[in-house]
Amino acid sequence: MRITVLTICPEQFGDFARTPLAARAQAAGRLSLEILDIRDFAPGSFRRVDDSPYGGGAGMVLRCQPVLDALASVRTPQSHTAVLAPIGKPYTQADAHRLAQEEHLILICGHYEGMDARIYEDADELLSIGDYVLTGGELPAMVIMDSVLRLVPGNMKEESAREESFEAGLLEYPQYTRPADFRGRKVPEVLLSGDHEAIRAWRRQEAHRVTRERRPDLLKTDRLEDPDHGLSGRKDGRI
Ligand code: SAM
Repeated sequence: MRITVLTICPEQFGDFARTPLAARAQAAGRLSLEILDIRDFAPGSFRRVDDSPYGGGAGMVLRCQPVLDALASVRTPQSHTAVLAPIGKPYTQADAHRLAQEEHLILICGHYEGMDARIYEDADELLSIGDYVLTGGELPAMVIMDSVLRLVPGNMKEESAREESFEAGLLEYPQYTRPADFRGRKVPEVLLSGDHEAIRAWRRQEAHRVTRERRPDLLKTDRLEDPDHGLSGRKDGRI
């Protein structure tokens, strides 16, 4: 998969590119990551990418020309372009699955008070990572890249992705590791039983309980695709 990010803060992506997930995917040829500095497309020695808003008001606005010229330099008919914006569609795990199928994903990061609205017209979609306002689109771009890369085949074990929160419209069941008794707080007996059917049933029940308690809104949607919450198990009966 190829991902191109358009940003005025390219230095923010250095650490992301070195995270185990991104580094492994790049080393294995599953990811080609390209960070484009929008300023490189701005004319003049000042490389000015912003201007004041028509109609007045606080702050500056990203100009069309450098952003759209940067986009034109990398876009192909196979590209899918998403602009990061608080006014965008709320991003979900279903979007991560959808974007993981793309051959070339372009993410455009805004800054300042935002961007000239005509930039939106050239994008395939606008995405928001939540109902709050960040300084720039760089963190949202990294959130989207991380969630998408986890779903690109080969980047993560398939079983672990299948059983995660939101995968079947439910939150994940509680997880435990050693010791079985931590200062009097015991791991549920069933998990120590070795009875895979019983474990699967307990996990299914717990996933429903946790979802009911923490995110009842998820149960009201039609996203409950798999009553087993991805717990159908392996063919050999092991979980
Ligand atoms: N004035 C804009 C508004 O009220 O919607 C906010 C602009 S914000 C300070 C600057 C940039 O950060 C945006 O253009 C966008 O790229 C990014 N951004 C901020 N919050 C975001 C969010 N929740 N989701 C996606 N992008 C966001």
